[in-house]
Amino acid sequence: MSMNKELAERDLRVLWHPCTQMHDHESLPMVPIARGEGAWLVDHDGKRYLDAISSWWVNLFGHGHPGIRAAIAAQLERLEHVILAGFTHEPAVQLAEGLLRLAPPGLARVFYADNGSSAIEVALKMSFHAWRNAGNTRKQRFVALSGSYHGETLGALSVTDVPLYRETYAPLLMQPIFVPSPDSYARADGESPAAYAARCADVLDATLAEHAEDISALILEPLVQGAAGMRMYPPEYLRRARQACDRHGVHLIADEIMVGFGRTGTLFACEQAAITPDFLCLSKGITGGFLPLAAVLTTQSIYDAFYAEYQARRAFLHSHSYTGNPLACAAACAVVEMFEREDWIARNRGTAQQLANAIAPLRDHPNVADVRQTGMIAAVELVRDRASRTPFDWRERRGLKVYRHGLQRGVLLRPLGDVVYFLPPYCISPDEIALMLKVATEAINNAVE
Ligand SMILES: *Cc1c(COP(=O)(O)O)cnc(C)c1O
Repeated sequence: MSMNKELAERDLRVLWHPCTQMHDHESLPMVPIARGEGAWLVDHDGKRYLDAISSWWVNLFGHGHPGIRAAIAAQLERLEHVILAGFTHEPAVQLAEGLLRLAPPGLARVFYADNGSSAIEVALKMSFHAWRNAGNTRKQRFVALSGSYHGETLGALSVTDVPLYRETYAPLLMQPIFVPSPDSYARADGESPAAYAARCADVLDATLAEHAEDISALILEPLVQGAAGMRMYPPEYLRRARQACDRHGVHLIADEIMVGFGRTGTLFACEQAAITPDFLCLSKGITGGFLPLAAVLTTQSIYDAFYAEYQARRAFLHSHSYTGNPLACAAACAVVEMFEREDWIARNRGTAQQLANAIAPLRDHPNVADVRQTGMIAAVELVRDRASRTPFDWRERRGLKVYRHGLQRGVLLRPLGDVVYFLPPYCISPDEIALMLKVATEAINNAVE
């Protein structure tokens, strides 16, 4: 039996996969990957898959990137891990310095966690706790956008508005206030994205004005709402959100877990609105997709709200065992160095333009209602009827057909419902972009039949 087949069989006897109805695998092949190189994943028979989604949005510079690999290997010779309470190490310090150099101005402190959802938990707890330490115990609620996604742990899921993930667990969750997302796809006929975003910003402002006494923070995904289907909105909304938070005394939490590290055309999405959030949550690309790590960056004034003699009981007593893992920090230091050494943002502008050219023909497809792009993220909205934007019945699972076709033809596409999106590693070549769109277009034609 081939190694591929053997691994797939052994897997299905013992594993339970994330975000998966395991029953699907009665007909859907499990794909064992042996190695990765650049934008490609390779199975045990040598079949290659172009990774159009950066392995769930984590990879930046390609699989097996030699610089990041070497940084981890060098760290592995010295120290694999040490408790980060009372102890420290060079990669943790160097990374914090690097992140603060790169991040929007005004952020001064770095708190580590080990995955994106945990970073969100940290930011929510810190926001609430900072108000409490300042003597304000009323601020217990959060505001989030419709269509938001902030992770799967109960706190992060509480501020998530994707029904597929939220609905089942709703009885267990905090109740935030959801305000309308400025998502340009939802704008009225003939309305500009900017006008719709302004309308949504007015609602946000009114909501904060009404409930400010009870609201701790507004949390949002700057510019692109990933899990909602790569829904995009203009930077002006972020500027308005920052103003509204300042006006009404509410913290702003920017979840840049997906959009950070150059995805949207700037190093951080907040830069496009020239704003600094009170909390900036980072993960995914932070290690180039090599190891799990997250960081919450915050301001000196938040930090100061916790700084007191122990007896004042103001400390942030939150921890994860692997906080600031040295191997992960070393990988992330290599990522920071890559951004500081080479102008990836300029390079990505060229790549994003190639992606825009390659995706353009899909604008005329009879089952495509929208083609959108922000930097290195592009998405195509599949519908039953283009004129009325009538979606397909979700039970038909058109996106799954796209996925299956992509696998057969050697491209890893993983649509979000009926949204086919492209979020490739930055090393993707013009030929690879052409292949990705050729296969995706075939897959779409095949799926809408
Ligand atoms: C992936 C993601 C998270 C959750 O991160 P995990 O590491 O999967 O827990 C949170 N917010 C956004 C915007 C994400 O894309």
